Parts: sequence; C-alpha cells; structure tokens
Amino acid sequence: MDHSFNAPPHEEIREAVRRLCARFPGEYWRRLDRERAYPAEFVQALTDAGYLAVLIPEEYGGAGLGLSAAAAILETIHAEGCNGAACHAQMYIMGTILRHGSAEQKQRYLPQIARGALRLQAFGVTEPTSGSDTTSLRTFARREGDHYIINGQKVWTSRAEHSDLMLLLARTTPREQVAKRTDGLSTFLVDMRAARGNGLTIKPIRTMMNHNSCELFFDNMVVPAENLIGEEGKGFRYILDGMNAERLLIAAECIGDAKWFTQKSVRYAKERTVFQRPIGQNQGVQFPIARAYAQMRAAELMLWQGCAKFEAGQACGEEANIAKMLAAEAAWAAAETCIQTHGGYGFAEEYDVERKYRETRLYQVAPISTNLILSYIAEHVLGLPRSY
Ligand SMILES: Cc1cc2nc3c(=O)[nH]c(=O)nc-3n(C[C@H](O)[C@H](O)[C@H](O)COP(=O)(O)OP(=O)(O)OC[C@H]3O[C@@H](n4cnc5c(N)ncnc54)[C@H](O)[C@@H]3O)c2cc1C
Repeated sequence: MDHSFNAPPHEEIREAVRRLCARFPGEYWRRLDRERAYPAEFVQALTDAGYLAVLIPEEYGGAGLGLSAAAAILETIHAEGCNGAACHAQMYIMGTILRHGSAEQKQRYLPQIARGALRLQAFGVTEPTSGSDTTSLRTFARREGDHYIINGQKVWTSRAEHSDLMLLLARTTPREQVAKRTDGLSTFLVDMRAARGNGLTIKPIRTMMNHNSCELFFDNMVVPAENLIGEEGKGFRYILDGMNAERLLIAAECIGDAKWFTQKSVRYAKERTVFQRPIGQNQGVQFPIARAYAQMRAAELMLWQGCAKFEAGQACGEEANIAKMLAAEAAWAAAETCIQTHGGYGFAEEYDVERKYRETRLYQVAPISTNLILSYIAEHVLGLPRSY
C-alpha cells in the first residue's frame, strides 16, 4: 500500500522495526498461540534494540523520544502481524515513576528499566468487584511503621508472570472517609520477585487470545513504605496522567492491526479467482475493504493529533479517548472484512487472520471499554449530565 501521501511520522524507526519483525513470522506467533506461551524472544529483541525504552529520558539510559516514536513502533509491530501486547506496558508504566517518583526512585529504577534488567510490565488496577468503576476498588494498603501491609485482589493483571515489578493502585483511606472518591488511593511499586509466595499469589487466566493475563491475590503482602510513589492518597491522579499515553499507544496498535488486515484483504481479493474473475473485482467485496480503510485513516489523524498535543504538554484527553475508540472500531471493521474476504480460508490457522481477529477484538473492552469512552466524551467534553 502506498502511504507516501501524508505519511505518518518516524519512517526510519518503522523501517528498522519492520526488519526486526521479519524475524518473527506468523509461524512463530501461531506456535505461541497454540501453547499459550510468552513471546520471550520477541520481547528480548525489542529490549535489545532499545525500543521499549524510547520514552525514558536519555539521562536515565533511554532514547528520550516522544510518544509519537513509541506509537510508530507499536503500530509497525501490529502492521507486520506481530503483537505488542506482550510488552507495550514496559514503554509507558514507567511514566508514573518519571513524573511522580522521587529523585532516588528514578535513579534506582529507570536506568535498570531502560536496560531491560528490570521488567516493569504489570499494572494492577482492575478488580473483580469494581470493574470499570476504579475508585470503588477494595484492595487496601495499611501503613505499619516502615511498611504497608496489603490485602485484596486484582484481576486481568496482564504479564504478571513476566514482570519483575508491578505498579499497583490500592486504597490507603477508606472511601467513606474521603471527601472525593478519587482521593485516598495510592500507587505502589511492588517487587513481585520478593512478594511472590510471601503474600502474593498469581493465577493465570486462559483467554480467547494469548494474552498472559492473571488474577492476583494479596494476603498480608508487605511492601516497604519507600515504594510508595508520590504522596499517599493522590495515586488516582498519577494513574490518570498515564492513561492518555496508554490510550494513544493502544490506538496505534489498532491502526497497525487495521493496516495488516486491509493489506491481507487486498492481496487475497486480487489473487482469489471465483466465477472466472478476481473476487476483488466485485464491489460487494471491494466496498467493505474501502470503508474499513477510510475508517482507519480517520482514526489515524486523531491518533497523530493526540500524540502532537501530548508531546506539546497540552491536555489531550479528548483526542486520546476518541483515537482509541475510533482505532479499535476501525481495526474491528478491517478484521471482520478480512475474514469475510477470505471466505472459509479466513478460519484456517495458517492464514493468521483468525488469530489477529481474536487479538484485535480486545481493544473495544480494554484498557477501557467503548461505553466508558462515550461517557467521557458526553460528560467531560460535551458537558452532558453525569450518569454515574
Ligand atoms: C485480556 C485483558 C487484559 C487486561 N489487562 C489489564 C491490566 O493489565 N491491568 C488492569 O488493571 N486491567 C486489565 N484489564 C481489565 C480491563 O481494563 C477491564 O476489563 C475493562 O476496564 C472493563 O472492566 P470490566 O471487565 O470489569 O467490565 P465492567 O466494568 O463490568 O463492564 C462490563 C460492560 O458494561 C459496560 N458498562 C459498565 N458500566 C457502564 C456504564 N456506567 N454505562 C455504560 N456501560 C457500562 C462496559 O462498557 C462493559 O461493556 C484487562 C482486560 C482483559 C480482558
């Protein structure tokens, strides 16, 4: 496909990422999918190339690039048929330490995260009873001298088994005792290597795609007070700060997925001949492909606008949320079209379409569901009355 007109930024990085991804073809991902295994070699290759440290400032050993570089990397990974979900969080969770951690915490963790010596891949927010209503979470951290004692449960904590550290959101003041429900929540950096078996239990959840998500149980898990990030009780704000970056990067992955599906549909529609003509000559086959492509291009504009605002330090909640929603929907439209274009072969594992189809469906639900984005737009952008 020719993207030279209005080409998205960072072509040099994209080209290098394409070369890396060529070492991890469909066959590699199919095997992992069958075995529900972690793409350790792929993640190592990205780490060695420095791609997971692009957002870490140079003084801490990273590349010190902006969000658009990270978006270009993740988009390319997905456009090449690979999957960044195994490691994308390593790029942005550290933003909480960078923006709100103490000088000592930054010195201690960021260079090691940049080198890949420490994996910060796990982000524990969602709980079984609170779901999308984050401020109702029940995991509680009680201060005792130099430590916090943490009890509670998380669900859907992705990559918990493949991470050394976890950024955890827990209540430190009961909800009934705070003026605003967003107060009284705190963020901790949990060393899971020390905690596992000492108050932390991790149970993998089998899902429709290979995602390495887990349930986490905290039973008097001890975390040193020095691992509190920023001020006690202000953790919700710190987490919100990072969410725009997360949404824009997930949007980039969805744009990559949409490009992969569309390219696959176009190629197959040109090659497959039925009734003595390529199926792509029929407008009934062409139009859904063209429509999904148009949806992707519109979402892409919103993504780059969001990245530009983020990099300029401007508020970008509207763009980040809209980009994530439109991109997830564009990816799904392209996926639906791709499976339909392939007819029966879309269901055969060796075409990779069914795997990518399962993988891209997630992004209408996580890390935030479409309804919650619509609610954000309705209430925070358009000023409609609050519904919850
Ligand atoms: C594979 C996977 C990986 C994940 N990884 C992580 C992770 O690493 N860390 C983490 O913390 N979380 C993670 N999540 C959790 C994810 O963020 C949540 O699943 C998501 O936010 C939705 O929460 P829920 O599943 O509890 O759904 P619920 O909140 O129970 O919502 C269910 C449905 O109801 C709708 N709904 C709820 N309330 C309203 C309302 N007021 N108005 C309209 N509609 C509403 C929602 O849109 C949704 O469609 C992951 C989830 C999955 C599936």
